[in-house]
Amino acid sequence: MKDVIIATKNAGKLLEFQSILSQYDLKAISLMDLEDSPEVEETGSTFEENAVLKAEAISKLYGKMAIADDSGLSVDYLGGEPGVYSARYAGAEKSDAANIEKVLLQLKGVSKEERNARFRCALALAEPGRETVTVEGSVEGYITEEPIGENGFGYDPIFLVKDKAKTMAQLTKEEKNKISHRAVALQKLAKLLKA
Ligand code: IMP
Repeated sequence: MKDVIIATKNAGKLLEFQSILSQYDLKAISLMDLEDSPEVEETGSTFEENAVLKAEAISKLYGKMAIADDSGLSVDYLGGEPGVYSARYAGAEKSDAANIEKVLLQLKGVSKEERNARFRCALALAEPGRETVTVEGSVEGYITEEPIGENGFGYDPIFLVKDKAKTMAQLTKEEKNKISHRAVALQKLAKLLKA
């Protein structure tokens, strides 16, 4: 069985990756299992660039296959913001509540037709001596006028999923994991691994 390092310290994400990778002859190890793992800076200007930066840095450091992701919210009316700054949109302390408030404030008075948004996720798979591959997944929706729902994290309470009369925070974990940007990207990666 081949080791793959998942470049995340997020236990929830690790579980999503493990459940996909277990179908292949791949054993997922997380950065949490490795001593002195570095914090790779996300200096790219796109989700894809950041995913590649992280996957290649970790793959090079440990000499193994590595998968990294980068994700966030993109609001059309805000020219794609918060984008790669999603986690720290309202400041370095990375507060979900403050980030939500900042988005809602900027969309105050903006009509439903102009509140289109999408969650996006880029995944990069790097391996020493091989060209890095990337995939992207997204899910379309609208920004609500106020937070609704208790589940999930980040911007989930203000993201109304297109074709569902619910915000992401009103979906169960199982429902979200079927349609999320990360799930879509992971399925694409799974297809690549199969090939
Ligand atoms: P990262 O990819 O873990 O760096 O996530 C960046 C940020 O994007 C998070 O801190 C959230 O603010 C936002 N984000 C990413 N995925 C989701 C999601 O599934 N729901 C809500 N917010 C998300």
